[in-house]
Amino acid sequence: MSLIVHKYGGSSVADADKITGVARRIGKAKDSGQEVVAVASAMGDTTDELIELAHTVSSEPDPRELDLLLSTGELVSCTLLTMALRSLGYDAITLSGFQAGIHTDDMYGQARIFSIDPARVESELSEGKVVIVAGFQGITDDMDITTLGRGGSDTTAVALAAALRADRCDIYTDVDGIYTADPRIVPNARKLSEIDYEEMLELASYGAKMHPRSIELGAVNDVPIYVASSFGDQPGTLIHRVEKVKELENRVKATGVAYQANVAKITVRSLPDRPGIAAALFEPLAAMGINVDTIVQNTSAERTTDISFTVTRAELPEAFEQVRVLLADLGGTEVVSDNTLASVHVVGSGMQNTPGYASRMFRILADGNINIDMITTSEIRISCIINEDQVSEAVRLLHEGFQLGEEG
Ligand code: ASP
Ligand code: MG
Repeated sequence: MSLIVHKYGGSSVADADKITGVARRIGKAKDSGQEVVAVASAMGDTTDELIELAHTVSSEPDPRELDLLLSTGELVSCTLLTMALRSLGYDAITLSGFQAGIHTDDMYGQARIFSIDPARVESELSEGKVVIVAGFQGITDDMDITTLGRGGSDTTAVALAAALRADRCDIYTDVDGIYTADPRIVPNARKLSEIDYEEMLELASYGAKMHPRSIELGAVNDVPIYVASSFGDQPGTLIHRVEKVKELENRVKATGVAYQANVAKITVRSLPDRPGIAAALFEPLAAMGINVDTIVQNTSAERTTDISFTVTRAELPEAFEQVRVLLADLGGTEVVSDNTLASVHVVGSGMQNTPGYASRMFRILADGNINIDMITTSEIRISCIINEDQVSEAVRLLHEGFQLGEEG
């Protein structure tokens, strides 16, 4: 018998009718002879509402209390889902993250799963039950409840699928798969029937909604992840290890175009060009937990260097202040910032080793009169930082220019 882990996002369990709909879908899988474990997120915007509520009684809610509070959202949706299943005649049981054996570190608000003891889930399954597991939560060695970071139910589901050696993890959501670009921007964006983990990771961290940690987990543990709509029966997208036949045939094709708004840039001018400067600049930022993305350094004839780097707009004030404080010690002349930027990314395996990809991207942007502020490349993507006003246009032009709307 095959074992499938399902995951339903907040919008899929937003009200009683939708919960019943999800119960029917799970029932159908069960009727077809599958064993099912289902992970659900909190109903609709419950998590946002709980966070807001916490902030009305406290300007800085205690992280432990906040996690315990947030964990209740998933208990509500999951217990209701189990009740719905039972009233449809299926035997089912809800387990909290704790009861499902999900052990995490104690980084409240962004805890990481370090082990799963699947014994309880397995024993319930062996009694023929559907097991509903509360997403987004776990327990520390000290028996405190933690949450895994916003959107963390995806990670719960894939981690459980790995621990249970499930045949697949199905992520049911309000989009029906992974597209070559955001369909709201590019009307002829095409749904991909399959995508490799690495490519998906790039798309997930640069736009397409999925908890990136869930994809990493899937890749490491070889869990096939199927993303599909929770409302219809249209085929979705399978994220798995895709054989690189395309590369062997030497006709690499871009897989998709991703983008990210809310990019900010900090530039430090005229730093002395000597060993240790970049370390002295970035170490304090790392210690503050600030995520630095694109970094560009250039050298002038006067043995000074300018360093520019991007951060999210939310982290700009904090990062800027830190760099301002460091400036004198570093020996730079000034620090400036720009918070009107965005990034666009062409993603596809083998791109870095295929001549012509980067230049093609630059030509497309140039013909669209879109100025490039910074450029980075990786094994499987080429990224440009551009002005945010032009991001939709850039995505459309790149999708068109790389012929992503076409099959094959
Ligand atoms: N309910 C949590 C959130 O909204 C976890 C999730 O949706 O996956 O972030
Ligand atoms: Mg949610």
